[in-house]
Amino acid sequence: MMHRHLNSALVGLKCTACGAHFSSDELINVCLNCGKVLFATYDLERVTSTLRKEDLPLRERTLWRYRELLPVATKEVSLGEGMTPTFRAERLGTKLGCSHLFIKEEGLNPTGTFKSRGLSVAVSRAKELGAQILAMPSAGNAGVALAAYGAKAGLETWVFMPNSAPEMNKLQCQAHGAHLVLVEGLIDAAGREAQKEGQKRGWFDVSTLKEPYRVEGKKTMGFEIAEQFSWRLPDVIIYPTGGGTGLIGMWKAFDELGRLGWIGNGRPRMVAVQSTGCAPIVKAFEEGASHAEPWPDADTIAPGLNVPAPFADYLILGVISDSGGMAVAVTDEEILSSIRDLARDEGIFACPEGAATVAGLRRLLAAGIISGSESILLLNTGSGFIYPGILKGIGTAGDSMTEE
Ligand SMILES: *Cc1c(COP(=O)(O)O)cnc(C)c1O
Ligand SMILES: [Zn+2]
Repeated sequence: MMHRHLNSALVGLKCTACGAHFSSDELINVCLNCGKVLFATYDLERVTSTLRKEDLPLRERTLWRYRELLPVATKEVSLGEGMTPTFRAERLGTKLGCSHLFIKEEGLNPTGTFKSRGLSVAVSRAKELGAQILAMPSAGNAGVALAAYGAKAGLETWVFMPNSAPEMNKLQCQAHGAHLVLVEGLIDAAGREAQKEGQKRGWFDVSTLKEPYRVEGKKTMGFEIAEQFSWRLPDVIIYPTGGGTGLIGMWKAFDELGRLGWIGNGRPRMVAVQSTGCAPIVKAFEEGASHAEPWPDADTIAPGLNVPAPFADYLILGVISDSGGMAVAVTDEEILSSIRDLARDEGIFACPEGAATVAGLRRLLAAGIISGSESILLLNTGSGFIYPGILKGIGTAGDSMTEE
């Protein structure tokens, strides 16, 4: 095959906290000044020299259609991620009293969750910059995506997972040939273990937002939303928030599209949904704080939401506040009944994290914070196939679950 240049307009990296600039030509994790999150920056003039938004429909139906705004210069490691459909949720919408309700179905990504996006881009870039061994802590789904894209790239991978991670995640990681290390405790404990081992052995750490490019993969959800909504963004986006990478990424995407002049000034209110069993962002939001305190004894049936101390807390809270959005927590019971609603009303077999957005919407409608006439987009971040055990909790027709 001919060598194809990807036309990336990447120019460098900029710290989200202290503003320091760094080269994007070498492997790097966080800001060397202050230890905070680095963002990729692009030459937007150059983007428009090879890409007009009118040309997008002719491009490949993966996230690589936005290659000018992605950090990979030579060759992508791709399994067909991105360009997931956005459905109109008419039946569920009618039930909830929403006339314009939509669901973006991320469960159709290659590894069954939107973690494919971040790892496709991060593994591509790490490989291109010469990394040989990649490691990360994961609640489950990110580890699977690292294992799969690592396999495709021919790189060695190490995944540190809580013992309590879903069985399917563990099996899948091993099937892809990753080294799986099970750790007592939650993702923060797994993170400490991964860092300790990695520093000794010189692995490249691909923990989310502790390297600059997973968020670049996840930001493509924002590009797709803009494209799928004909460049007029919905009024509200509801996102199940763990580490917050998707929320932060979509907001970055809207900023880039705004500066390209492809969308107007209007922005969606960004809503972070968490579980009442692990809601550090909700607590910080309610207290008007710009940082989140670690959540003690975190526990929820939604593994992706079980992140007691998100590294990029200040960025998540910044997006919520800049967008006029909010944060809301829902119970595991509400999540379970929302899995059932999505399955029965929309034919979508959602993961608990995705179902949490329905529960969050219900609460915000009841509180009058979202109106039924607004256009509302829910992100179903993954497939329910990953968590077969949860099915036992959702019951069957005519059972004793409470109806509203
Ligand atoms: C990781 C994950 C989340 C949370 O995503 P963040 O970007 O870390 O906030 C939500 N849903 C699923 C299915 C996940 O795997
Ligand atoms: Zn800095």
